[in-house]
Formats: sequence, structure tokens, C-alpha cells
Amino acid sequence: MIEDKNPQRTPVENLGEFGLIDFITKNFEISHSSTVTGIGDDAAVLNHSKSTVVTTDMLVEGVHFDLSYAPLKHLGYKAIMVNLSDVYAMNAVATQVTVSIAISNRFPVEAVKELYEGIEMACKTYNVDLIGGDTTASRSGLVISVTAIGEQDAEKIVRRKGASDGDLLVVSGDIGAAYMGLQILEREKAVFKANPQNQPDIDAYSYLLERQLKPEARKDIPKLLEELDVLPTSMIDLSDGLSSEIIHLCKHSDVGITIYEDKIPLDPTVITACEEFNLDSTTIALSGGEDYELLFTVKQEDFPKIKANPSLSIIGHVVDASLGTNLVTRGGEQIPIRAMGWNSFQE
Ligand code: ADP
Ligand code: MG
Repeated sequence: MIEDKNPQRTPVENLGEFGLIDFITKNFEISHSSTVTGIGDDAAVLNHSKSTVVTTDMLVEGVHFDLSYAPLKHLGYKAIMVNLSDVYAMNAVATQVTVSIAISNRFPVEAVKELYEGIEMACKTYNVDLIGGDTTASRSGLVISVTAIGEQDAEKIVRRKGASDGDLLVVSGDIGAAYMGLQILEREKAVFKANPQNQPDIDAYSYLLERQLKPEARKDIPKLLEELDVLPTSMIDLSDGLSSEIIHLCKHSDVGITIYEDKIPLDPTVITACEEFNLDSTTIALSGGEDYELLFTVKQEDFPKIKANPSLSIIGHVVDASLGTNLVTRGGEQIPIRAMGWNSFQE
């Protein structure tokens, strides 16, 4: 898993900064009419006919990823996903990205190429134009900073603020898998360190690993909601974990939220992995993070439009702020969500 499968190592100096920029950006095509000028000038020029949304996220080696198990192509893909997820969480359509990288001199041209293959695959799959970036040296590992840009009619933009008493709380997909994927990668890394001859035993966990290494942003959800004629009252993406995102929605909307343990959507492999690691699956779902699903509230009258949708789970409802944020367990007990933070399973 950790061996170098790409022995060819061309130093970046051979190409120079501009040669490198040409090399990594030459395959990218512009597909949006709102991209007036892309890569190559001092600045890109955009012309959106709707409101523009802009978001930035930075990934730092050793903080957000570990190159000993994150393949560069996946990392490039994930760097774009993390950002597109924030655009979709505004109920907007992602249209452009910029990508800035800081690379150390131990990083050969081949590695940069791999990283950009992932970025290119993400841009093609999600139909966004790469319109610029910056390339610089780093003395302490790889840094990738992406800015994503999107557009939406002003009245269709959905914020964290807007939920009100009685609204239903909905989450897309399933949660907790990315965190369990990370647990498996950490364990295999430890096993590999102890004995490099050991073949990692990860086949049973391919879904969990994919959710961690190559997440998909939920481009389909704003589209689905539009088709269903549902405009969420508030929305956020799940980057940090369900409990902290629920608390964000409550804070911005000045409401409380009650969720039900038995409604939380878990993939069966998350449950299996949690048993194996002796972790509580509800705690993982609440605190795990990096799921990049969308969490949103809808008016109660929209219930019939979403209740049977396999991509959507209604996990709770909005209550008055004075009631706070609570989880109702399978046993009917009510537990404040605030108490179930990341730290509850870090010891
Ligand atoms: P400047 O010196 O004016 O900032 P650069 O030489 O850094 O310009 O960049 C030249 C062009 O290449 C610009 O359009 C810039 O946005 C783009 N660019 C630079 N680095 C990257 C990168 N890592 N990924 C994508 N585009 C890049
Ligand atoms: Mg520059």
C-alpha cells in the first residue's frame, strides 16, 4: 500500500514553474459560458447571470491527509469534492474552481501529474472549469487550496439560517463511513509499519475506504430537490460530523433540533466495522465527519414529496431554541447532542 509504484522521478526544476503550470493545466477544457477567460492571464474573467457563491478550503499534509495511504489522484479528487460540497450546500450549481498548490522539492513532476489527474477527473465528472491557481514551493509538505465558485438564482440560495419550529430535518445518503474508512487505513498503516511484508486485508471495507479516500459531493441533491419542487429552509454540508453541523444549523437559525437514533442512516459495513473496532455506531455517525452529505430542513408540508426517496432520510425535526439539540435513543431516552462530541471516543 505504501510502496512507491511510480519510480520515475523528474525534479520540478527540470520544467521550471511556468513549464510545470503548462504541463499540469494543458488537459483542462472550459465548458461553461460564464467562464470568459480561464487560465493564462493575470486573472480569470467570469460572467454569471445569477448570484455567485464562492467558497475556499485548504488541505494540509499531516493535518488533513497522510500521503502514506492517500493516493495522490484520490487526494486531488477529494480536494475538489470538499469544495464543491460547500457550493451544493448553498443549493447552487458549481461552475468554476481555482487550485493552488505548495509543493516540497521531494515532490517530483510525476506526483504533481497524478494529483492533477484526480483534479481533472473531478472537474470533468462534476462539470466545473479549472480557471486558475497558484504554484509555489513548500518547506513542510504538500498544501492544496481550492476555491470553488457557483451560481444560483438569489431566491433559491439556501443558507444555514432559515430553519423554523416544526420543519423536518433531512440528511442525504448514509453517514459514518468516511470515519470508519480512516480507522481502517490507520490500522493497516500500523500493521504495515510493524511488518512491511504484511498484505493489507481491506477488501471487505472497500465502501468505507472509498468514502474516506474518494468522497463524492452531492451534486445530485440540489437537482433532486428542484425536481421535487422542494426548497430547503436551511442547509449545511456534513464535513465535521452530524452533531456539530446540527449545532451550526441551530445556532444560525436560532432553533433547537431533536433527532432519533433509529432514523440515522448507516451503511451495514459501518455497523460491522464499528463492532470490530468496539465503537458505538451512533457516536461515529454523530461525530465522525468527512461524509460530505447534505443536511437540510424542509417545511412539514413537503413531507409527502421526500418521504419515499431512497437518497433522503428524515432523521428529526426542528423545535424551539429553548429545547436545545437532543438525540432520542432507541430506548426512548433523550440525550443532549452537545455532550456527544468528538472527545467522547478519543480516549
Ligand atoms: P501570476 O504570476 O500573474 O500570478 P502565474 O504565473 O502564477 O501568474 O500563473 C499563470 C496562470 O496559470 C494563471 O492563470 C494562474 O491562475 C494559472 N495557474 C498557476 N498555478 C496554477 C495551478 N497550480 N493550477 C491551475 N492554474 C494555475
Ligand atoms: Mg501567481
